[in-house]
Amino acid sequence: RGKVGVLALQGDVREHVALLTELGADATPVRRPDELAAVDGLVIPGGESSVIDKLSRIFGMQEPIRDAIASGMPVLGTCAGLIMLADDIVDAIDGQESFGGLDVVVRRNAFGRQVESFEAELEVPAFGGGPVSAAFIRGPVVESVGPRATVLAALPDGRVVAVEQGNLLGLSFHPEITGERRFHERFLARVESRHRTRAPQSA
Ligand code: GLN
Repeated sequence: RGKVGVLALQGDVREHVALLTELGADATPVRRPDELAAVDGLVIPGGESSVIDKLSRIFGMQEPIRDAIASGMPVLGTCAGLIMLADDIVDAIDGQESFGGLDVVVRRNAFGRQVESFEAELEVPAFGGGPVSAAFIRGPVVESVGPRATVLAALPDGRVVAVEQGNLLGLSFHPEITGERRFHERFLARVESRHRTRAPQSA
């Protein structure tokens, strides 16, 4: 069914591994290029994007992750992970880079200091069933969405907080904290089909 990696440079790695495992996935932390090469999909967790960026360069992971994204590997980025997937960052810390791939501009820490954390119920038309409960923790907002990306969810005031583009899925919030499973399930379905199409070549 394929192997899933959680980028384990910094951030809430354990929560993602736990949820993915609960969903029946073979999930493992990924820190090195050879570990990345062994997985069919990658989660980039929440944390601090400037630190994830710095460590990814120190560990020689920036190029391998960019290559994996370009080759169509399914990636789910939450919060700092969404920032790492965005083609452009507003309010980046000096010299901060992303991996890129998602045709969006995100603004870091968009929800301001006085509301560092809140929960919201989000309608996600792409999902059947009820609203999604989303935990925002100093999350980014998607300020503009380019033609290649699609909006999956917005707050009632219209601010975009979930986007996807091909195999990339980026969320401003943390579904792994509220026990929301549908985004991870959507990601895992892509990992599985990626694994099926890749398996014959790698055998
Ligand atoms: N503010 C963080 C950043 O800019 C993201 C916060 C989070 O991932 N919960 O990377």
